[in-house]
Amino acid sequence: MLRNSRLLGVVGLAFTMMLMLGSTSFAADTIARQEEKSGVAVAPLSESEMEGLLFTREEEKVARDVYLTLGAQWNVRVFDNIAQSEQRHMDAVLTLVDRYGLTDPVGDNGIGIFTDPDLQAMYDDLVAQGEASLVDALEVGIYIEEVDILDLQELIAESSKSDLDRVYGNLLDGSENHLRGFVSAWERETGESYTPTLMTDDEFQAIVGDADSDTSSGAARRRGNRR
Ligand code: MN
Ligand code: MN
Repeated sequence: MLRNSRLLGVVGLAFTMMLMLGSTSFAADTIARQEEKSGVAVAPLSESEMEGLLFTREEEKVARDVYLTLGAQWNVRVFDNIAQSEQRHMDAVLTLVDRYGLTDPVGDNGIGIFTDPDLQAMYDDLVAQGEASLVDALEVGIYIEEVDILDLQELIAESSKSDLDRVYGNLLDGSENHLRGFVSAWERETGESYTPTLMTDDEFQAIVGDADSDTSSGAARRRGNRR
């Protein structure tokens, strides 16, 4: 009798556990189906977070495409290295675009093709400017990174989503490395020291400092390679 009730207890417990497991996976399936239907697995973005994310996806493409185009013309390694980093930035933003169920503005667009007319004009102008000389091309790189840094700082301040802020923070670190890389190349090429066009001198110096010593340190180089 005792043995039987114990056995019953064990069977009962196993049965209860099966039910619990069953209902847990049923609940998980239901949530997954809802997410699939709505395309949103997370708290939705605000209008401005959405616009900022889609803009950034293409803004990173401007950087990548300008560097690929000018890199092919001037055959200088700095453009190719940084273009690879911009590809990783585009991929990171695409992950967020997909996570929030948004339509990717890049789609199958090739190099130099943009959905946003302002970014199309920016690309066209900067490529034309960078074709004039290697120094002009490096100045285009510096300009793009100044724009990106200021835009990313604003996006981080506006967004309340930790996943967006994390990606924007990585892009910002990358842009600061890129700025140091381009400024360092420009200063080697011209023998002068660069004056920022968009940032204040203080903002610029805080990032660039002594461009040569920053980019030649092992830590900066490793960070630059990763991002
Ligand atoms: Mn970038
Ligand atoms: Mn960059």
